Amino acid sequence: MSVAEHTGQAAMQSVEDYLSDVLATIRPLPPRELRLDEADGAVLAEDVTATWALPPFDNSGMDGYAVLAADVAAATPDRPITLPVRGEIPAGDTGRHDVAPGTCLRIMTGAPMPSGADAVVPVEWTDAGVTEVAISRAPEPGNAVRRTGGDAAVGDVLMTAGTRVGPVQLGLLAAAGRGTVIARPRPRITVMSTGNELVEPGQPARPGQIWESNSRMLAAAAQQAGYHASRHGIVPDDKAAVLTAIGEALDNTDLLVTTGGVSMGGEHDIVKAALADLGTVAFRKVAMQPGMPQGFGVVGPAGTPIFTLPGNPVSAYVSFQLFVRPAASALQDFGPERLAAISAELAEPVRSPAGRRSYLRGVLDAAAGTVAPVSGQSSHQLASLARANALIVVPEPVTGLPAGTTVDVLVLP
Ligand code: AMP
Ligand code: MG
Repeated sequence: MSVAEHTGQAAMQSVEDYLSDVLATIRPLPPRELRLDEADGAVLAEDVTATWALPPFDNSGMDGYAVLAADVAAATPDRPITLPVRGEIPAGDTGRHDVAPGTCLRIMTGAPMPSGADAVVPVEWTDAGVTEVAISRAPEPGNAVRRTGGDAAVGDVLMTAGTRVGPVQLGLLAAAGRGTVIARPRPRITVMSTGNELVEPGQPARPGQIWESNSRMLAAAAQQAGYHASRHGIVPDDKAAVLTAIGEALDNTDLLVTTGGVSMGGEHDIVKAALADLGTVAFRKVAMQPGMPQGFGVVGPAGTPIFTLPGNPVSAYVSFQLFVRPAASALQDFGPERLAAISAELAEPVRSPAGRRSYLRGVLDAAAGTVAPVSGQSSHQLASLARANALIVVPEPVTGLPAGTTVDVLVLP
């Protein structure tokens, strides 16, 4: 038996290889026409061009008086110039207005500029008169006038295909008058926990049972990453029940995540047993800790991607961040999105198993440029994950690093 066989390393796949296998399998969701209320988080599949100028008409940038600048060119605080006020143009006024020489109109921010006027005198430069107004400062022509097309001209590309729609992009679509947009929608992720020992939090747990935490944690992580997420109820360790639950979830899911039931333990690893029969999901050991047993493939008529994550909560969470998140972004032909990586100096020594890349929970002090491992690095220790804000990456061959070593750190969202 070779050393590799003896240590089981021959069967292990690197984190990079595994992720690239996953990404190579993902086919982006087809673009479709989304209403604006569906478009937040979508990724544009068209260039969005301005069909109207922005702003669409010359309008006032301030509350004040629309004037002909030449009429008040001599205005000073000592010698104000008084003009009759012939009316008022509020924002939303769609009528036609004209300023005759030697007169003015009161005008509000966003109201269309009247013909005959070429400047707005801010109300702060006047006595705020109603029938007539004393102007004590001369505006340049064009003062406080927002020109047609000053933000974008007709035909300008406002956003290119491939842009992720966030709050500002959504605002711009609306400002451009778009009711719909062609985009790849946010993937819908369903999270499903398996295990006979699991009980809904809030319910009594008997000895031997634990409260189910993975599905809530991963659904929230999916939401935090910008995806739609829903939870399927706890699924017992039963092959038929697992397949039924997956079938139910497929109706409204673009990406399925299960946890539990994929260890190397044999007949109790029901998710693995149930899905292995399908032949479309591959189970492997990835050279990492936590999270070595991983499964990925496709299920159902639409070839929906499925991740079968290990059940230990920290393994499940780290796997989600390393693999599920980039895959979800690839469903939008975006990214792949990964955790932000920085370098920091170890505040304490760390240990790591040979041949596996460790993702140690740590507290990153970005200002000091240091990272300290938290105590409790076993994959069931969720409390220690809750104290961490980063993962310290220890490369595969390394079994220990002294304090002061510069390491790669992944910043947890
Ligand atoms: P498994 O991967 O099914 O062998 O589970 C590994 C460990 O994770 C066991 O201790 C399980 O009890 C625990 N576990 C599995 N699923 C969950 C879950 N949804 N919430 C909390 N702990 C879990
Ligand atoms: Mg289990």
